[in-house]
Amino acid sequence: MSYAPSEIFLSLLHNAGLMALVVMAYSTLVRHAPKLGGRSVMIGLLFGLAGVLSMADPIRTPEGVQLDSRTVMAALAAPFGGLVAAVIAACIMGIFRMIQGGAGAVTGLAAIAMASTIGYVFHRIWKGRTPNAEQLLVLSLAICSVLACLALLPRQTAVSVVQTAAIPLVTNAVLGILLLGAFLAREDRHFRREEELQTEASTDALTALANRRTFDRLAYRISESARAKGSPFAMLLVDVDRFKSINDRFGHLAGDRVLASIAAIVKAETRQTDIVARYGGEEIAVLMPATSLRVAERVAERIRQSVAGQSLAVEGTDLEVTVSIGVSGADKAGVVFPTVFKAADDALYDAKNNGRNRVELRRAA
Ligand code: GH3
Ligand code: MG
Ligand code: MG
Repeated sequence: MSYAPSEIFLSLLHNAGLMALVVMAYSTLVRHAPKLGGRSVMIGLLFGLAGVLSMADPIRTPEGVQLDSRTVMAALAAPFGGLVAAVIAACIMGIFRMIQGGAGAVTGLAAIAMASTIGYVFHRIWKGRTPNAEQLLVLSLAICSVLACLALLPRQTAVSVVQTAAIPLVTNAVLGILLLGAFLAREDRHFRREEELQTEASTDALTALANRRTFDRLAYRISESARAKGSPFAMLLVDVDRFKSINDRFGHLAGDRVLASIAAIVKAETRQTDIVARYGGEEIAVLMPATSLRVAERVAERIRQSVAGQSLAVEGTDLEVTVSIGVSGADKAGVVFPTVFKAADDALYDAKNNGRNRVELRRAA
């Protein structure tokens, strides 16, 4: 048996630049490609293209065996991109291998198909989760079975390849999967953590509504776009009536639960496109793009009735809670957001002064 460890090292080094490019492109794709279908297609194209690039410029052992990263790319496509990615990557590499032709074409095709299938089986076993180091090790060892494809070669050639190049082929694939897999898994973890941090920074933990910072940012964006288009927008300020007395009677934890229930009611009574945020202690702000004052007032009345109509179970007592709502909006062009907000705040004061459990409206001047 003859093999040179330097060939394996050389092959890995040869493909290191390619692997780095794959990691960089993958990192961009998971962040920017559209979540459904689109991402899987892009990842399939990426792995397929990387496989083609490595096949186009392989390291050749003195026995004429190609060392490239096709098995690595085929095996990792499903774990990192799902079924669609695996199929696309396998097709691209398969077509390229057929175009390359030669005596080993059928063997090469079979190896791509088998590595992709093994990758997909593991993807299913791992229930689509990002693999850890041990799981990648198991996958890389399972990939060794791809050597069985050599049986498709004439017997004499197969025996000679196994004797001379089995170890470089296997080691190359195993190390490639471990290295590239570990870097891709790290990208996945970073991305998920970024998403978690983003959610934590933009939402309110108690009510799961957007927080004030998110509301202010989106309100500015929506109002500016409405101004540019000359379309209306409206907003509501919802404040729980006599909330302090609920806290005083039942304690803060009970008050928290009441607040979360009211937040859920407001969310349920508004549209998906409305921005619902916890603006202050027991104040909820709703921003409604492309909505007239008249419609906003109707929504506010619906929220008021819905809250008043439900008795919330607090500490074994059925509690009647009400809200007051200030409504305002920019029906005419040229009104800036702070003016609209001030008008909604004034309208809320009106609602409180006029007896609570009311909706009041102020036109933003
Ligand atoms: P009004 O009808 O005039 O709005 O009366 P109110 O008691 O609701 O108004 P006030 O502004 O006097 O009190 C608001 C209370 O909301 C005071 C504060 O302790 C309570 N609060 C603010 N944030 C939270 C919170 O996160 N949890 C709980 N439990 N209470 C909160
Ligand atoms: Mg209040
Ligand atoms: Mg208040």
